[in-house]
Amino acid sequence: MFRNSKFEIVNIVIIGPAGSGKGTQAEKLAKKFDLVHVDMGKTLRQVAKQDTQLGKRIREIIYVKKELVPMDIAKQVLHLNLGSIPREQGLVLDGVPRNEEQRQYIEEALLEFGRKVDQVFFVGISEEKAIKRISRRVVCDKCKAGFILGRDIENLTDPCPLCEGKIIRRADDTEEGVKKRFGVFRQETAPIIEEYRRRGLLFEIDGEKEIEEVFQEILKKLEK
Ligand code: AMP
Repeated sequence: MFRNSKFEIVNIVIIGPAGSGKGTQAEKLAKKFDLVHVDMGKTLRQVAKQDTQLGKRIREIIYVKKELVPMDIAKQVLHLNLGSIPREQGLVLDGVPRNEEQRQYIEEALLEFGRKVDQVFFVGISEEKAIKRISRRVVCDKCKAGFILGRDIENLTDPCPLCEGKIIRRADDTEEGVKKRFGVFRQETAPIIEEYRRRGLLFEIDGEKEIEEVFQEILKKLEK
C-alpha cells in the first residue's frame, strides 16, 4: 500500500524495450512505496535455470529464439505471482503485459484479485542507445544484483561488490539480442501502449536520461 498520502495509485505497469531501464525504475518505485515488484523477465530466468522440461523450454525461448514465452507459460508464472501478493499491498508490473493477449489476461487476473491497472509508464529509448547501454550491463550470478561495467565494476573478472559472487553478462544481452527484442517490442508490445494511451492511463517517460532524472519524472507524473 502507498504509505504517502499524496498518492492513491496502487497498481502500476512499467513498459519499455530492452535497455530502457524499466527494471531499475520499477525497483525504485517498489522500494519507495512498498509495492511488490513483479519482474517477469527475472522470474522467467529463475525458472529457466531449473533442470526441468519447463526450464529447458524457457531457456530456449529467452536465450536462443529471444522471443516472448508463450501464453500458457506466462499465465502460469503470473497467476502464481499475483496470487501470492497480500491484498493490501500495491504492485508494480515490470515487463508484463507485453502483448494484447497478456494485457487482456492481466486485467482479468487483477480483477480476480480485486485490483485494476491504475497507471502505465512507457519508458522509451532508441535502439542505438539501448545497445550501448546493454553492452555495459552485467549481473551477479549469485545475488542477481545488476551493475554497470566501468562505473560499478572495472572488469568482468572482478567479484560482485555485494556478495563476492561471479559477475556475468546475460546471454541475451548481445547486440543481436537487443535488436531482436526491439523487433518483438515494436511488433507485439507497441499496440498495447496505444490502447493504454487511448484509455488515458499512459505516461511517456524519456528513458535516455540518467536513472535519478527518470525517477523524478515518474514521481512528478504520479503526483498529478
Ligand atoms: P526482460 O528481463 O524484461 O528483458 O525479459 C527477458 C526475456 O524474458 C524476454 O526477452 C522474453 O523472452 C522473456 N519475457 C519477459 N517478460 C515476458 C512476458 N511478459 N511475456 C513473455 N516473455 C517474457
